[in-house]
Amino acid sequence: MPDETKKTRTSAGKNNADIAGDRKASAAKGRRLRQRPKGKIGEVWIVIECEGDVAAGVSWELLGVARSLAADLGSRPAAVILGIDDQCQELARQSFEHGAAAAYVADHPALVPFITEPHCQTLAALARKHSPEIILLGATTRGRDLASAVATEMETGLTADCTALEIDPESLLLRQTRPAFGGNIMATIITPGHRPQMATVRPGVFPLPETVAGATGEVIVSKPRLAAQQPVRQLEFIPNPEEEVALQGANVVVSGGRGMRQLKNFAMLEELARELGGVVGASRGAVDAGWVSQRRQVGQTGQTVRPALYIAVGISGAIQHLAGMQHSDMILAINSDPTAPIFDIADYGIVGDLFEVVPALITEVKKRKAAAAKSGGAAAKGGSEAAASSEKAAGAETATAGSEKTATATKNGDSETVTTS
Ligand code: FAD
Repeated sequence: MPDETKKTRTSAGKNNADIAGDRKASAAKGRRLRQRPKGKIGEVWIVIECEGDVAAGVSWELLGVARSLAADLGSRPAAVILGIDDQCQELARQSFEHGAAAAYVADHPALVPFITEPHCQTLAALARKHSPEIILLGATTRGRDLASAVATEMETGLTADCTALEIDPESLLLRQTRPAFGGNIMATIITPGHRPQMATVRPGVFPLPETVAGATGEVIVSKPRLAAQQPVRQLEFIPNPEEEVALQGANVVVSGGRGMRQLKNFAMLEELARELGGVVGASRGAVDAGWVSQRRQVGQTGQTVRPALYIAVGISGAIQHLAGMQHSDMILAINSDPTAPIFDIADYGIVGDLFEVVPALITEVKKRKAAAAKSGGAAAKGGSEAAASSEKAAGAETATAGSEKTATATKNGDSETVTTS
């Protein structure tokens, strides 16, 4: 919701002229309230999403971004932790290690477990008191919920699902970039008239920052004024088993597209993923066909992943799919069409029939794992690094072995430029 969208709110029982007048007055009041003395730039805040003293990875990713935004503003990055005492202190410590210079800790029993209303009241009160320039949250279920509530409360703009954030060197405004019009254009949105500038970012869009063990910072503790009994209470928490699909943290993701033709063919992707210690993802083509749950969808309207190795099988490489996987460390594409756009972004490409290439890959990976286990050394390595490199080698060799009939392997000559674009 950029600045302008707040104008779409309605007031019951008033005609349009009244509403327009109210809005003008309210906007002017909002601007007055949030006008900052010239030269004083507020902080860049990251709201730390947590369960107990464990933070969501996206919060740390955002602290990395906050550090560079704050440096460009001549300000400082700060973590905001809403919870109860011991857990907050531990999270403050971790925040400093991930780059925060300060931590605003709001400590109240009504803040655990997460309920939108007390979190919204507390965050808005903190923001009114300390006037941050920018507030960023993860575009998770909880982050989206809280961000929109706080932006409404503060009457400010909010840009959801940003894929890039930077400070405009002239205006010092936050440039918030996100896909628009079905992913066909990238829109850059600014919030010129209201503060704080707010945005959400999906997990995996930015890398985790380097941590500095033992780093410290300023802790600002507050006791929010909240009723002990909130009108909304959590009676029970029932985890959704589908959420166990840990696409975002996976080191290896093997995704299938419409080229898989039917549900039962995903069994071979499951096997390849299992051999590589990874998980199965999918394009929207495969999800729409009903072969795979939406929770496994990678892309603009699915999840953003950043694994060590991403294998795209029978996926054409539509821009909306690339939006969710283009920052993977290494991309291997398997497609029978040599002109498929997925090859433009892949580090390694195998042009061939996936029904021949994937079984050959599985055989080769198994063979290499058995050989490594026999020799002892590499078996201990395990994990993604071993998986990624054995896959890389297996991919290349498989393609050579079967090149005449089924496949040709290509190493993208400009892989660095392509994968980071
Ligand atoms: P196709 O484009 O049909 O590609 C199938 C590929 O399989 C082809 O390249 C073909 O050459 C190859 N193939 C076929 N048979 C074989 C074989 N035997 N061996 C090897 N290769 C074979 N898409 C997403 O993925 N994620 C999103 O989040 C997403 N969000 C969207 C949001 C919006 C607003 C819109 C408009 C679209 C979105 N899409 C998304 C859809 C996207 O535009 C594409 O339609 C979709 O990604 C296509 O899926 P696909 O690559 O599996 O299918």
